[in-house]
Amino acid sequence: MSRSETTRLDPYAMSCRQLDDAAAHLDIEPGLLERLRFTEREVTVNFPVKMDDGSLKMFTGYRVQHNDVRGPFKGGLRYHPDTDLNEVRALAMWMTWKAAVVNIPYGGAKGGVQCDPKKMSRAEVEKLTRRFTWGIASIIGPERDIPAPDVNTGPQEMAWIMDTYSMLMGQTTPGVVTGKPLELGGSLGRFEATGRGVVISAGRAARHLGLELKGMTVAIQGSGNVGGVAARYFEKAGATVVAMSDSGGGVYNPKGVSSAKALACKDQYSCLLGREVSAEEISNQELLELEVDLLAPCAMEGVLTQANAGKVKARLVVEGANGPTTPEADAILEDKGVLVVPDILANAGGVTVSYFEWVQNLQNLLWSEDQISLRLEEIMGKAMDEVLAIAQEKKVSLRTAAMILGVGRVAQATRLRGIYP
Ligand code: GLU
Repeated sequence: MSRSETTRLDPYAMSCRQLDDAAAHLDIEPGLLERLRFTEREVTVNFPVKMDDGSLKMFTGYRVQHNDVRGPFKGGLRYHPDTDLNEVRALAMWMTWKAAVVNIPYGGAKGGVQCDPKKMSRAEVEKLTRRFTWGIASIIGPERDIPAPDVNTGPQEMAWIMDTYSMLMGQTTPGVVTGKPLELGGSLGRFEATGRGVVISAGRAARHLGLELKGMTVAIQGSGNVGGVAARYFEKAGATVVAMSDSGGGVYNPKGVSSAKALACKDQYSCLLGREVSAEEISNQELLELEVDLLAPCAMEGVLTQANAGKVKARLVVEGANGPTTPEADAILEDKGVLVVPDILANAGGVTVSYFEWVQNLQNLLWSEDQISLRLEEIMGKAMDEVLAIAQEKKVSLRTAAMILGVGRVAQATRLRGIYP
């Protein structure tokens, strides 16, 4: 297998390569760099779920804890048929850098269960969630490792995790997960946070290029918690969303697609294209190559590759998803002069408001939506300014600059703590 195929198919190889690229600009001791490449703990659980038809089905789930030098492990939990250990490893590593880039006191972790929740009933998903939580209960906790939503999980799954963990502990423990429903200690603004952060960072990046979001055309891959929310905020900022998609395909109208109508259609018929939506059908592949000002991949990793990066026409790529661009695609986009706002910066709004939720839970506080908004803008803005400054000073891409900032902070924290014993 060629190197490009390796990195495209193996997100962990991809994340290690990004780490090496950043390390080349940092004075990191070889042993320390080696440590950062490794995850700290990897738990695989195989567990049974009684399905609605009475049959027993086995599932496999993972929780990978990459690094907790700067604070408790933190990161989402995804339900997807293609999830595997190497994917979760990479996602855990990206969480470590992400928390460090926005400078919140967390380490990085990620979880995944190999399943297709779209083909399961709500009762089956609940049983799966509760049994998986039981399986990882000894390694999570408000001071240890705090899961959150990711692909195909949301407030309801977080509520089930919180309930299961609380029952096991014998006390209600809201701080064990973030992204909960508001009624159970969730935070105002958490649901919107990732999509909102994507638009905040897109606005800053546009300004850096002497442009503004107002009047820009935008194509968004994905229409879930990240893409769907980002669409709304792009429209609010005066941009025109010309294309959106979900796992089944996309919709395109050069004059603009109403995201509210497309999302309402998806809610009702599980498909973005309905009678009320005036748009043509396109594939997810075509969406990436559209003639637009801004492209926001907000779904899965590895979608911009050596094969299609050359065909990207957008001037700005803002990564709402984790790991959507392979290192080979990164190099092509950089040569073409496309500015890529990397995942660990662009989608950090989610974990930032997760942090606000956790702080409120631990201290029994309730912050207003304005307090959340203001703090999110402040943290994202500061991280963006710091990354742009490093990129200019070292003449590197925003991804490498963000990695220099994130990896540098983790490395320095490790030096200060020293190695036990
Ligand atoms: N899954 C989200 C991410 O990839 C959120 C993680 C969190 O809030 O802990 O950043």
